[in-house]
Amino acid sequence: MRRVYLDNNATTPVHPLVLEAMIPFFKETFGNASSVHYFGQQAKKALEESREKVAAFIGAKAGEIVFTSGGTESDNLAIKGVAYANRAKGRHIITSSIEHHAVLNVCKQLEKKGFEVTYLPVNRYGEVSPESVEDAIRPDTILITVMHANNEVGTLQPIDAIGKIAKARQILFHTDAVQSVGKVPVNVDSFNVDLLSLSSHKIYGPKGVGALYVRRGTRILPLFQGGHHERRRRAGTENVPGVVGLGRACELAAENMDEEAGKLLALMDRLQSGLERKVEDVLLNGHPTKRLPNTLNMSFAGVEGESLLLNLDMEGIAVSTGSACTSGTLEPSHVLSAMGVDPQLAQGSLRFSLGRENTEEDIDYVLAVISDIVKRLRAISPFYKSSSSPS
Ligand SMILES: *Cc1c(COP(=O)(O)O)cnc(C)c1O
Repeated sequence: MRRVYLDNNATTPVHPLVLEAMIPFFKETFGNASSVHYFGQQAKKALEESREKVAAFIGAKAGEIVFTSGGTESDNLAIKGVAYANRAKGRHIITSSIEHHAVLNVCKQLEKKGFEVTYLPVNRYGEVSPESVEDAIRPDTILITVMHANNEVGTLQPIDAIGKIAKARQILFHTDAVQSVGKVPVNVDSFNVDLLSLSSHKIYGPKGVGALYVRRGTRILPLFQGGHHERRRRAGTENVPGVVGLGRACELAAENMDEEAGKLLALMDRLQSGLERKVEDVLLNGHPTKRLPNTLNMSFAGVEGESLLLNLDMEGIAVSTGSACTSGTLEPSHVLSAMGVDPQLAQGSLRFSLGRENTEEDIDYVLAVISDIVKRLRAISPFYKSSSSPS
């Protein structure tokens, strides 16, 4: 069966050149980077070269990169690290209502520990307004954390404007850039961020490795107690093959990003305009233009996203829904809810996230298959009423 993978915001396949770069570090160059002998020093050298590559990719200095186990750990380290290092100064944190759970659930946890969190609203496109950030600042605000690109709808936040405000008010600013790194330009200085999270497996690197950028002079408390790895900010023997993979993935992303983004945008436009032409009553969720070049979230009126997903899977097409199936009940996506999308339409949403391996043929295959599935599901839907049929 033909397989079309359109779930690249969930994870991406490892680039063949990334895998090639990693292999020696499972074999002959297996040393512990903390060891003083030859084996250790070879590993250490690779670790530091990767640190340079990751830093260069986001406009940082090597000493400002902390390797972690991925985006989730980077978000935890940034937010808890800043919160606990600064709790004598204040207890207030500002975030948005559409963050990834790696940020939202950390904030919820901190609320139980005596911190106060403001969850900023978003407009119908999923944008946070810089004015709302400014208005939320209190004398005891110690951190602002707003994601760069949303993983469900792809909307890009006015991160430069928020960064300017944070800098002017001397409040630490973290951004979860897991989805934007490698897809659109990311630069820690133009963003005015103090901390930035990224993850390897979203950019054709291996799973289980990521990085946190920590601007020089920013104090964070570590999450783990242990050895003096990563300048005492992240204890534990470094995942050298993983880190080498992340470094290579950043290098490749830097080389190919512009060309890749152009290609993805053309494919995404083909998909969006095809859906709008072939399927009636579809609606875009997210900003029409201020959006990642690979992410398309559409609502199909009168259809359950979950049913659509399963039917597409039977045809070899992998997509995702925003709704997470928790304990048997379908909860609408917190992102779409915050954007004010009608709950019924939110339940009928699908996320198509494109990647470097997708082709026009893939898109045309999806378009050929999906309209029949939608028609079939709508025919048995108690909710659907065609907007073009007479009432
Ligand atoms: C995937 C993702 C994460 C989590 O990263 P992991 O490396 O899978 O832990 C965090 N934030 C966003 C926006 C993501 O898309």
